[in-house]
Amino acid sequence: MSSVFIPKALRQRITEQAHRSCGYCLTTELLIGAPMEVDHIIPVARGGRTEENNLWLACSLCNQHKSARVVAPDPLTDEIVPLFNPRQQQWSDHFAWSTDFERIIGQSAIGRATVLALQLNRPLLVRSRRVWVMAGLHPPKE
Ligand SMILES: [Zn+2]
Repeated sequence: MSSVFIPKALRQRITEQAHRSCGYCLTTELLIGAPMEVDHIIPVARGGRTEENNLWLACSLCNQHKSARVVAPDPLTDEIVPLFNPRQQQWSDHFAWSTDFERIIGQSAIGRATVLALQLNRPLLVRSRRVWVMAGLHPPKE
């Protein structure tokens, strides 16, 4: 999360690359009716730059939970691992949907740590996903 100025053209490029979706929980702007925030993958507070290769989209809650973190413990092993990098890594290599598509299940140490740190199964979001499934709007295509 930051209040760093992002030039309009750069924001637009990131928005298109990220398909108007949060890189972590995959929620889309259309479903929540609000624009995504531009996430500094390496936070500004840790020297991350406002450059295309350090930027992706995140919803405001994922961005808030991520804050200035770059690592988190894997809840299975307590090992400290990097958070998921939505620009460099494939979501499906680290996460999967539960069979009812309401929850995100970490598939790797990075995935498990990110699910917990960013609270990707926030109770209200899980309830929203239930409604989106009924409406045929979820899960998103990757
Ligand atoms: Zn999100």
